[in-house]
Amino acid sequence: MTAKLKTTITDAEWEVMRVVWTAKFAASKEIINVLKDKMNWKPTTIKTLIGRLVEKGLLATEADGNKFIYTPTVSEEDSVKKVTLDVFSHICNKKIGKTLANILTEATLSHEDIKLLTQVLEEKKKQAVNEIACNCVKGQCDCCK
Ligand SMILES: [Zn+2]
Repeated sequence: MTAKLKTTITDAEWEVMRVVWTAKFAASKEIINVLKDKMNWKPTTIKTLIGRLVEKGLLATEADGNKFIYTPTVSEEDSVKKVTLDVFSHICNKKIGKTLANILTEATLSHEDIKLLTQVLEEKKKQAVNEIACNCVKGQCDCCK
């Protein structure tokens, strides 16, 4: 995992990153056009967010005449994966299965999604263990009582 992927993206910054990921590259004007109505943000707010993402190294800048073009330095897929794994790092290993079940219960899924998930579960079944070891420090979960 690169240092950039260790950087946390705030909820507001995600909005900006999604625009740049979709466009592949964008000037601040284009980012502002997409977000000003959705988020009801002022252009200066969006420019501040862009500046922060540049500082964090998540957006690269290139001058194009009198404007700057921004490109993402991390992929959307890797960033989403990182956030998902971060969630797991906050809970006991024993609770991951139940947490995934909760996420699935909340999600709206297509037949294609279910096919993919079934395939993943069939593979997981082959490597399943009888008991999952707790990875927590005493006092942070009920397993070690
Ligand atoms: Zn535990």
